[in-house]
Amino acid sequence: MIPGKIQSHKHNQKTCYNFFINIKLNYQKIFNGYITKINGQMNKYENYVLGKWIYGDDLGTPLYNAVNGQQIGSASTKGLDFSQIMNYARKIGGPKLRKMTFQERGLMLKKLALHLHSIKNKFYPLSYQTGATKLDSWIDIEGGIGNLFTNASLRRQFPDLPFHVEGSAASLSKNGTFIGHHIMVPKQGVAIHINAFNFPIWGMLEKIAVNLMAGVPAVVKPATITSYLTQFMVREIIASKILPEGSLQLICGSARDILDSVTSEDVVTFTGSADTGILLKSHSKIIKESVPFNMEADSLNCTVLAEDAVPGTIDFNIFIKEVVKEITVKAGQKCTAIRRIIVPEKLIDDVKNALQDKLSKTIIGNPTTEGVKMGSLAGIDQKKEVYNQVKLLKNSQEIIFGSLDDFDVVDADKNKGAFMSPILFLNEYPFEKTDCHNIEAFGPVSTIMPYSNIEDAIKLARMGKGSLVCSIITSNMKIAEKFVLGASSMHGRILILNESCAKESTGHGSPMPLLTHGGPGRAGGGEEMGGIRGIKHYLQRTAIQGHPTTITNVTKQYQVGGKQNTEGPHIFRKHFEEIEIGDTVITDEHLVTLDNIEDFAELSGDKFYAHMDENALDGTIFTERVAHGYYIMSRAAGLFVDPEKGPVLLNYGIDECRFTKPVYPGMTIKVRLTAKEKIEQEKKDDDIAKGIVKFLVDVYDDEGETVMLGTILTMVKKINQK
Ligand code: NAP
Repeated sequence: MIPGKIQSHKHNQKTCYNFFINIKLNYQKIFNGYITKINGQMNKYENYVLGKWIYGDDLGTPLYNAVNGQQIGSASTKGLDFSQIMNYARKIGGPKLRKMTFQERGLMLKKLALHLHSIKNKFYPLSYQTGATKLDSWIDIEGGIGNLFTNASLRRQFPDLPFHVEGSAASLSKNGTFIGHHIMVPKQGVAIHINAFNFPIWGMLEKIAVNLMAGVPAVVKPATITSYLTQFMVREIIASKILPEGSLQLICGSARDILDSVTSEDVVTFTGSADTGILLKSHSKIIKESVPFNMEADSLNCTVLAEDAVPGTIDFNIFIKEVVKEITVKAGQKCTAIRRIIVPEKLIDDVKNALQDKLSKTIIGNPTTEGVKMGSLAGIDQKKEVYNQVKLLKNSQEIIFGSLDDFDVVDADKNKGAFMSPILFLNEYPFEKTDCHNIEAFGPVSTIMPYSNIEDAIKLARMGKGSLVCSIITSNMKIAEKFVLGASSMHGRILILNESCAKESTGHGSPMPLLTHGGPGRAGGGEEMGGIRGIKHYLQRTAIQGHPTTITNVTKQYQVGGKQNTEGPHIFRKHFEEIEIGDTVITDEHLVTLDNIEDFAELSGDKFYAHMDENALDGTIFTERVAHGYYIMSRAAGLFVDPEKGPVLLNYGIDECRFTKPVYPGMTIKVRLTAKEKIEQEKKDDDIAKGIVKFLVDVYDDEGETVMLGTILTMVKKINQK
C-alpha cells in the first residue's frame, strides 16, 4: 500500500481527463461551427431529457437522407446520465400522471391526437428522407396519430379513477362479510421504449399512448438512423405543452447503458432484431429486478393461398394484390411483412406468373416523385444487411424475380440512395431447404413455396417458429377453421381474407390498436396493444380482501354487502355532486299477480309458454306460471323511480342483469336501488353539465332473497353548470 502513489496516479488521471475534455470541447466547437457553416440544413438532433433539449458532448453519429445519401445531421448521447433521466421520469412525470384519472389521461391523449392531426403535413417532408413514400409515411404518421385516438377512447372502459378496478368481486365467505377484488394501479416506474428504425413515428406513438393512459411516464429511444423524424415529432409534442413535464423524454442516438438503471417498477419494451432483443432481455438488471420486458423481434410471417382460391376467382386476385403490397409497402421493412408465400403445388406457376407480372410494374425511386410505388430502405447499412441475407437465402433457393444489381430507379441515384429491387424467391423443397424459415431479409424480399395439402400448409406456417401474423386467403369455411386452429399457437394474429371482407379489410400487415400485436417464439414472445390489455402491462394487479364496506371505500364502487345509506332525500332528488356511493333507496313492495303476467304478455307480445300455459310446465324448472323477467325489471323501475322532474336526466341502458329466482303470482317484490359508481362526463359547448351514475338494482322477495340483480346507467345533472 503506497497511498501517496495512488493519490498522484489519481491526480494524473484527472489532469489527463481534463486535457482530453478540453481537446474534445475545442474540437466540438469547431465541429459545431462546421455544421452550421457548411450546410444550413445540418442539424444536431438533440435529446429531450431532464426538461431540456441537450446534445451529447461528442460529434455524434452522422444521420443521412436515405434517398440521396447526403448527411442531414447527427445525434449524440455522449455524457447523458441515464440514471438521472429515469429518476426524472419517476419523480417528476410519474406523480403528475398518477394523479390524473383515466378519463383525464384519455382526454389529454385526445387533445394531443387532435393537435398532431392538425399539423400532420409538417411531418411528411422529413419522412420522405427516410425513404418512405407518401403511403408509407401515411401509415407511420397518421397511423401513429390514429393510435393515440384509439387509446384515448379506451378511457370509457376504465373507472373514473387514477387506477383500475378489474372484474367483479369474489365472494369469499358464507355470510358475505369477507370478499375479494382486484385493483390495478399504475407502476411507479418508467416505460423505456427501445424502438426499431422502420416506423419512427408510429413506433413511438403506439407505445407511449399506452403507458400514458396507464399513468406511467416514458423514455423513448428510437433507432438512431431515423431518430431525426421521431425527434421532430417529440419537438411538436413538447412545444404543445399538452403532456405534463417529465412524462416524455427522448434519447436521440445510441444508448448502450440504458438498462443499467432500470428498477423493479419499470417496464421495458423492445422492437428490433432478435439478437439485440436477446442481449437486452438477458441484461442482469432485467433479470435481478424482474422487470417486464416486452420483445417484438424478427418474424418470418407467411400467407397461405387455399386450394379453393384458384386463378380466375376474386380471392386469387386478392391474394396477389396483398402479397405485392406486403413486399413493396415501406420497401418490405415491416415486422409484419409477408416473407413466406405458401401456395398449392398445382398453382405455383400461376402465382409465380401473376406476381412477376405485378412486381415488374413497381416503380422504384424518389418517394416524392409522382408514380413512385416503392422508396428506398432506411439507409445504406440496412441495404448491406438485406443484401447479405439475400445472398444467404440464394444458397438454397433461386431468385425468380428481381436483381441485386440490375434495376431502375426513378429521379434518384441508385448508387447513393439505399434503393433495391423487390426480390422474389422460389423454394421447391421447403421441408428440406429450410433457410427461408430462418433467415429474415428485412426488405422487399419474399419466398414462394409449394404445399400439397392443408396439413402441410399448417406445418410450413409453423416452421417460422413463431410469427407476428399470418394470413390465409380462402372462402372455404372448413379450410379456414382447420388452418386457424392448426396454426394459431405459433402466431400472434391470423387474417382470414376473402371476397366478403377484402374491401374493408385492414390487411395482412397492419397491427390494429384494439387487437393484440406480438407473437410467440422467434417473434419475441411479446404482446402489446390489444385495447385495454395493452394498458394493463403498465399496471400492477393487486388482489384486495376485506369487508364489502372497506372494499367499497377503496374501489369507489359499491360492493354487495357494503354499508348502504338510506337517509336523506330520494336519490332522484340529488345532483351528480351530491350522490355518494352507497346512497340507497328502499322502495315500497308490490304484490305480483296473474293479471300482471297476462297484462305484460299482452303489452309486450311475449307469450312464452312458461308465462302463459300452466299445463306446459312438465319437465321445466317452473312449478307455476312464472312472471316475465322483464316485467320484474320494469316493475322495479315503477317502484324506484321518483317521477317528478329533477336532476336525473335519462336512463341509457343496463350493464348487466340477472334473473336469479322465479317470481310466481302471490309473491311480493321490493327494490334496493344503490348508487354504485360515478363517472365524470366532459361537457360539450351548449351541453348540460352532467355525469354518469351507475345504480345497482337489487329486487328481492318476501323471504329477502334476490330475484333480480342489475346495473342501470343514468345521466344525472350537475349543480355546477359551468
Ligand atoms: P436493432 O438493430 O436490433 O435495433 C433496435 C433498437 O435497439 C434500436 O433502437 C437500437 O439502437 C437499439 N439497440 C441496439 N443495440 C442496443 C444495445 N446494446 N443497448 C441498447 N439499445 C440497443 O434492430 P433494427 O435494425 O433497428 O430493426 C430491424 C429489426 O427489427 C428487424 O429484424 C425487424 O424484424 C425487427 N422489427 C420488429 C418489429 C416487431 O414489432 N416485431 C417491428 C419493427 C422491426 P441504435 O439504433 O442506436 O443502435
